[in-house]
Formats: sequence, C-alpha cells, structure tokens
Amino acid sequence: MTLTKKPEARPAPNSWGLATGENPWEYAPAPEATDHIRIESEYGLFIGNEFAASKPRKTFTVINPATEEALAKVAHASKADVNRAVGAAREAHRSTWSNLPGRERAKYLYRIARIMQERAREFAVVESMNSGKPIKESRDVDVPLAAAHFFYYAGWADKLEYAFPNRDPRSLGVAAQVIPWNFPLLMLAWKIAPALAAGNTVVLKPASTTPLTAYLFADVVRQADLPPGVVNIITGPGEIGMHLVTHPDVSKVAFTGSTAVGKMIARALAGSGKKVTLELGGKAANIVFDDAPLDQAIEGIVNGIYFNQGEVCCAGSRLFVQESVYEPLIDKLKARLGTLRVGDPLDKNTDVGAINSAGQLAKVQELVESGIAEGAEIFQPDCDLPTRGFFFRPTLFTGVSMSHRIAQEEIFGPVLSVLTFRTPEEAIEKANNTPYGLSAGVWTEKGSRIFKMVNAMRAGVVWANTFNRFDPTSPFGGYKESGYGREGGIHGLGAYLDLAGNGTTRR
Ligand code: NDP
Repeated sequence: MTLTKKPEARPAPNSWGLATGENPWEYAPAPEATDHIRIESEYGLFIGNEFAASKPRKTFTVINPATEEALAKVAHASKADVNRAVGAAREAHRSTWSNLPGRERAKYLYRIARIMQERAREFAVVESMNSGKPIKESRDVDVPLAAAHFFYYAGWADKLEYAFPNRDPRSLGVAAQVIPWNFPLLMLAWKIAPALAAGNTVVLKPASTTPLTAYLFADVVRQADLPPGVVNIITGPGEIGMHLVTHPDVSKVAFTGSTAVGKMIARALAGSGKKVTLELGGKAANIVFDDAPLDQAIEGIVNGIYFNQGEVCCAGSRLFVQESVYEPLIDKLKARLGTLRVGDPLDKNTDVGAINSAGQLAKVQELVESGIAEGAEIFQPDCDLPTRGFFFRPTLFTGVSMSHRIAQEEIFGPVLSVLTFRTPEEAIEKANNTPYGLSAGVWTEKGSRIFKMVNAMRAGVVWANTFNRFDPTSPFGGYKESGYGREGGIHGLGAYLDLAGNGTTRR
C-alpha cells in the first residue's frame, strides 16, 4: 500500500524552522587545484609497458561531463590491437609473472599501492574531471579504496596455499577485464589487484567515457617497474570488449556493467571453459523500520542513493518505509535534500556532481518522466544547476507503486523511489520482487530483526544501519540478474585461480 500526502499550500517547516527544500547555508566556492596534474593531449594503447597508437591509427575524444569540454584523445583499438595486447599478456604470463614467487609479486603490488597513495591527489582530480563525481568522493573513497585493494591482495600473493589449502592453487593465464564508467579507478583495482596477486596477467578495457585514470595507472605500472606485458590497457567501443573477452587465449573474464551486456557475454562464453565473473545491475531495497534512529537513517538513505549521483550498481534506489514513520521520515528527507549542494565536481563542498554522459542523463530524464506519467509524486529541491554539463537535481518520488518503471528498472541516477510497508513479511516480499539481487539495507535497532531480514533477502550484500560501505576484505556480488561470482576478499582471489578439485580444467 502507498500513502499519498495531501497537497500543502506551503511546505511545513522542518526542525530547523526552514521550509522544506530551503538551503540554510551558503558556501563560498572551494575549488580543488588542477595545476598539479597533467593530462596528455593524446593517449595511445598501453601494451607491453609502451604507449602506442592503434593500428590503423584512430582516436576518439574524451570529455569532462561537468563542462562538456574535451580532455584528451584516446586510441581506438582495432581487433588486431586486442590480439597484440592479449599476446603481450600471454607472453608475460609464460615467461615471467607466473614463475615469480608470490613474495616477489607481492612486492610489486605493495609498490603500486604506495605509488597510488603518493599520487592520490592527482588520481582524485583526474577521476573527478573525467567521471563527474565530486572530488570529496574520489579523494576520500575511490582513490584510498583502490590503493587499499592493492595492499590487501599484496598480502595474499605469497599465501595462496594458506588461502586454499590442499587445492594446489595456480594462476589461470590472461585475464580479460571490462569495466564501467561509474568507478573507473576503483573497478580497475577490484579487477587488477587480485588477478596479479594470483599470478595472472591482464588486459583491461575501461569504459569509453572514462579511460583517463586507467592511463594514469599505466604510468604507475611503469613507475613500479612491472615486467612488460603484465598489465595492458586498451580503449575502444563495446565490440572491442567483446573481441577481448572471447579471445581464445584469454582464460578468465571479469565484467562489470549493464545486465544487457553481461547477458551477451555470458552467452558468448558459454561452453568456452573460461572462468567468468559478472557484476551487473541492481535495484536495491533500503528498508527503514519504525524503531530505526531516523536521523541516522536519513544520512544512510542519502548516502545510499545520492552518492556518486546514484550511478552505483548497489545504490539504495528503492526506499521502503514502515507506515508509522512515513510522514516524519519524508519531511526530514526532503529537508535534507534541500541541503545537498549540486554542481562543480572539483568544488570540495559539492555533494552531487555531474552525470557521466549526455546519454546517461537522457536515460535518467526518460525514467523520471515515466514516473510522473505513471502517477508518482516528484520532489526536487529548488537548487540552481550549472548552465553547461550533464547535471540532474536529486530527486525523490513518493506515491510509487511496485509496478511503476521507477520501482522496477535501474535508473542509475540520483532518483529515489519511496514505497511503504506494514510488516517485516511485506517488506521482504516487496524487496525481493525485482529481477536484481545485488544489495540491500536494513535500518532497525533490533538485532534479531536484522538477522531475519538478512537471511530472507535475496541480495549478495546486506548492510545493517549503514549503506554503501566497501572494504577490500569483504566479498561483493549478486544473485539473479545482478550477475554471478564474487569480487573482494578471499572469494575474489579464488575467482582468479585454478583450484584443483574444484572441477576446473587446467589449461
Ligand atoms: P555497458 O554495460 O554498456 O558498459 C560497461 C562496459 O562494457 C564498458 O567498458 C563498455 O564499453 C563495455 N561494453 C559495452 N558493450 C559491450 C559488449 N557488447 N561486449 C563487451 N563489452 C561491452 O553500460 P553502459 O555504459 O551502456 O550503461 C548502461 C546502463 O548499464 C546504465 O544506465 C546502468 O543502468 C548500467 N550500468 C551498470 C553498471 C554497474 O556497475 N553494474 C555500470 C555501468 C552501467 P564502452 O564504454 O566502450 O561502451
């Protein structure tokens, strides 16, 4: 059941005495400096520790989504380039990397992690310029977590026998890794760190809109003196990604992106003998019970859906509120939305930056229009948006029913659909009523209720009284159309190993 609020002549004042949506603070601009970073005018493919033009020479332009200005040209790989990259990775696996003792591989990974920390500011600025995410997120979340993944998997590199006792762990060979645009550097780290720790070599294809931190990482690879061919990075459209993952000399495929492309990859690789992990879309339920600390829950809801402009596969995009606390919670949430600062990603005060591309913005707009057309009630704070760039106001829908598209489809934008429930059973049924199963959140003071909900929900990750918490030691992955396999933790390491007795064929 859903509740519809009566229209108010004027929004009720919130606990600060302000009208809903009214911003109590004015912030002076606090722009992050960009003079310390260097973006090349053109990037070649990174194969065998060398940057080289694609063959035939072809490029495409990468832009800053907050300004729509060109940042750089990057190489458009051909199928022959993919073959070269896979060849370099295969040769590096055969001749050096797979023969190195784990402790030696660990040294390289520690070195990479330390260099990433040293160059953290550079990474954060480039990531925000290229992806549109607020600098405070790239600075405080993406870059430190990416370095943490290299530290964490460096620790495992010489302990594979202990991680998988009696399983004779061996590397698989060349890993093909295709990553999306929402966490470009972090997804690179999720993929490359466990692959290298396990003794594999990699060919990585970043998303076409966000390759710049991957090419910055290529520079780190050279700085860390990694043997040539251990890490290769190529850029090009989706068909190049498909050529990469289906390449016969690739033994392991890791993909993060849309469910549609994940399904195509799963079909293409069926019966190939390659190990595959797919991390796909989500439509997470964030469930607030009436005994939850509401102010804390508000922060969790906001972090759940407006973090990274909602361009997060595990975003808490469906909020389920127990009916008895619906009204106070919505009032608080609307007031909180009014305090979010939308704008320049490089401003340290910005909470919500730019949507990654014009195409993604159009998708968000289309789904929001469908929500209005289907009868849901929209709320957006009255904030100014920059005149250039791909920006969208943090949006809240009430009066949503389970059949609405905004309650079913992944929007991948700063848009929250609010629904209600009366009993835990109703919450579970509604939360599980989705083709996805990546993540969920529960807000309650009762420990027993948390255990009940965690066990009943078909979601790979369930957060209790928090949301969007990530840690390299913790496995992450989905059920149903959210994909299969786990990344992170020891589970993520196993995905890159041939484990005897596990039914895998040794290549
Ligand atoms: P895609 O799944 O198309 O892109 C993800 C990665 O896959 C990119 O590197 C892309 O390359 C590559 N790719 C595209 N087509 C193929 C293919 N046929 N074979 C192999 N690789 C391919 O996501 P979109 O960028 O199109 O986003 C669409 C929607 O997907 C979003 O609105 C969102 O709902 C969802 N999504 C989910 C993500 C998640 O983390 N689960 C991440 C990103 C998107 P290229 O960039 O060159 O096209």
